[in-house]
Amino acid sequence: MINVPEMFGSCVFNDEAMRKYLPKGTYKELKKTIEDGKALDINIANVVAHAMKEWAIENGATHYTHWFQPMTGITAEKHDSFISPTSGGKVIMEFSGKELIKGEPDASSFPSGGIRATFEARGYTAWDPTSYAFIKDGSLCIPTAFCSYTGEALDKKTPLLRSMECLNTQALRILRVFGDNTTTHVTTTVGPEQEYFLVDKKVFDQRKDLIYCGRTLFGARPPKGQELDDHYFGSIKPRVSAFMKDLDEELWKYGILAKTKHNEVAPAQHELAPIFDTGNIATDHNQLTMEVMKKVAEKHGLVCLLHEKPFAGVNGSGKHNNWSVTTNTGKNLFEPSKNPRENTLFLVMLAAVIRAVDDHQDLLRISVASAGNDHRLGANEAPPAILSMYLGDDLKEVLRSVLSGEEYVSEGKPVMQTTAEVLPNFTKDTSDRNRTSPFAFTGNKFEFRMLGSAENIACANFIINTMVADVLEDFANQLEGAEDVKTAAETLIKKTVEEHKRIIFNGNNYSDEWVEEAARRGLLNLRSLPEALPLYTSEKNIRLFTKHKVLTEKELRSRCEVLLEKYSKIINIEALTALDMAKKDIVPAVSSYIKDLAETANVVKQVAPELVPTAQTDLLRKLTNLLNCFVKKIDALDKAVVGAKDIEDEAEIAMYFKEHVLAAMQELRAVADEMESNMSAKAWPYPSYGALLFSV
Ligand code: ADP
Ligand code: MG
Repeated sequence: MINVPEMFGSCVFNDEAMRKYLPKGTYKELKKTIEDGKALDINIANVVAHAMKEWAIENGATHYTHWFQPMTGITAEKHDSFISPTSGGKVIMEFSGKELIKGEPDASSFPSGGIRATFEARGYTAWDPTSYAFIKDGSLCIPTAFCSYTGEALDKKTPLLRSMECLNTQALRILRVFGDNTTTHVTTTVGPEQEYFLVDKKVFDQRKDLIYCGRTLFGARPPKGQELDDHYFGSIKPRVSAFMKDLDEELWKYGILAKTKHNEVAPAQHELAPIFDTGNIATDHNQLTMEVMKKVAEKHGLVCLLHEKPFAGVNGSGKHNNWSVTTNTGKNLFEPSKNPRENTLFLVMLAAVIRAVDDHQDLLRISVASAGNDHRLGANEAPPAILSMYLGDDLKEVLRSVLSGEEYVSEGKPVMQTTAEVLPNFTKDTSDRNRTSPFAFTGNKFEFRMLGSAENIACANFIINTMVADVLEDFANQLEGAEDVKTAAETLIKKTVEEHKRIIFNGNNYSDEWVEEAARRGLLNLRSLPEALPLYTSEKNIRLFTKHKVLTEKELRSRCEVLLEKYSKIINIEALTALDMAKKDIVPAVSSYIKDLAETANVVKQVAPELVPTAQTDLLRKLTNLLNCFVKKIDALDKAVVGAKDIEDEAEIAMYFKEHVLAAMQELRAVADEMESNMSAKAWPYPSYGALLFSV
């Protein structure tokens, strides 16, 4: 039997370990630092470092590393051992406060978007005491922020921490307006639901596209996809179940609150949801979760695919970012309570989010923009690239009452009448689920559903935090001087909802009518990264980020540059992989199959001349025509790739890759898939979609 409470957090220098290993006074000082966000005195840091090292060595660690999140989107680490030489050729294990607080990795090989030329290689990592250190593979991992020699953020964590600060500042002002003088700190809570695919490692290893790109670039549709809806919540196969069990245990050791696991819609697709945590820790944990998923999969002879669209024709993978705001006294500011109509503080918070989403549709879209996610948003599947909010019937009624001044008719929580006597009746949730909404209010939190499965959630969260903080600041400015806060707030809520109600949409976001309706409402529809990214550095956005000190203009521009560059590079890699597969494997395979057909046709002609023309000659003609066409498409893709070299501007390059390279890849693929459908399985050089999707 496994003892989960004992196992949970066993690899983490958490509160319990701190209490045990730190002198009482140091523990208190450290806690204060964590809670108030103050800088730590070096003497205290020395004591903490020593205790951390003792704990780490007792738990099998020999090294330490500053663990950080550069703009690649994944995590980075450089390991140093604790050893320090002594006289007599021996070593002792040492770790100082200075080493804990600050690291100096060479920053020159991380993307910086022009912030740092390679000759200014120095970068710093700085300890983030608000996220616990942990042991991974024999190294003490210290969560850190990463910046350049000149202090610019080069990572995903820094703006997230800054945005949490500014949300704290503005939300506290609102709380004070409403007479709350006890709350001293407000933080965001985040629960990211993570989708992923599992495929057999042996099958994966035979596909260059999966190896280099994480997604298939070719592949004819299998006879069966997801049309029977038989995978979603279906019983979990033994091999997957063993993986999930192992995964849970590994995550629990890291103090990650892995809670829910189930099969998802597409074959071979699954989901894991943790219990929510503060925004910063949830982000670190999600990064760690993705890493652990991959490692545990390997142990089971599987590969975990985190790409947003590994397979055409079935659902891709996303990440649902559940977000709320909570006080240090334990109050969720998005809890509507029994009578939301009378809950002015809640309505102010709600109005702030409505306005923020409407004002910053562009930023929310940008926060989830990646080459992988472009295959979902605004393409064949959902959620669409258009931002809108779902509030549910209850809040719709509240807002109707706010706007009309008429009385709010609360239905109370409706009772669900079950139809069989033996089943108990139960109360229904106040809002139904609207699975198609990109930004849905779900009871006491918002669920932002546009994130891609592989993305670092820091970006979406620092953007949500900043845009909401910005509106709260304006609200606080208006309400702080008011004589009668309640009346002033009512007026403000009404005005805000009036002005921004176009963003609320409770219907089906996947329908074509919505696309037209959204256009009539003047909502943005940014279908791809190259269309969205140029808006990142608009005047509005520069003002927003610099005003709240979340990003400087230079940092913002560099981030935009990094995203554009990454997009083009990814499509370039995909194109080169497609060309490699086409020229080296597909053309030879089809040619040799045609040769087989020709030989068989010749034999038939000699043995049974009355049967000519034969089935082989028909097929031979068809495949030869397709192959001729395929070779032309190869040529076109080759030319498209080369064409990118003449463009200088990053935004133009990205657009070029989308319009020319990606388009040429799609045309190439269509012909390949047609040939695959007409060939013997043995003659095709790669495992089929069927083998990939149904192999586990
Ligand atoms: P569903 O699949 O219906 O969206 P789940 O229960 O799988 O629902 O996921 C809901 C997620 O929302 C969980 O990660 C949960 O911890 C998180 N969550 C619940 N309450 C909050 C909150 N106040 N703030 C942030 N996240 C929350
Ligand atoms: Mg969800």
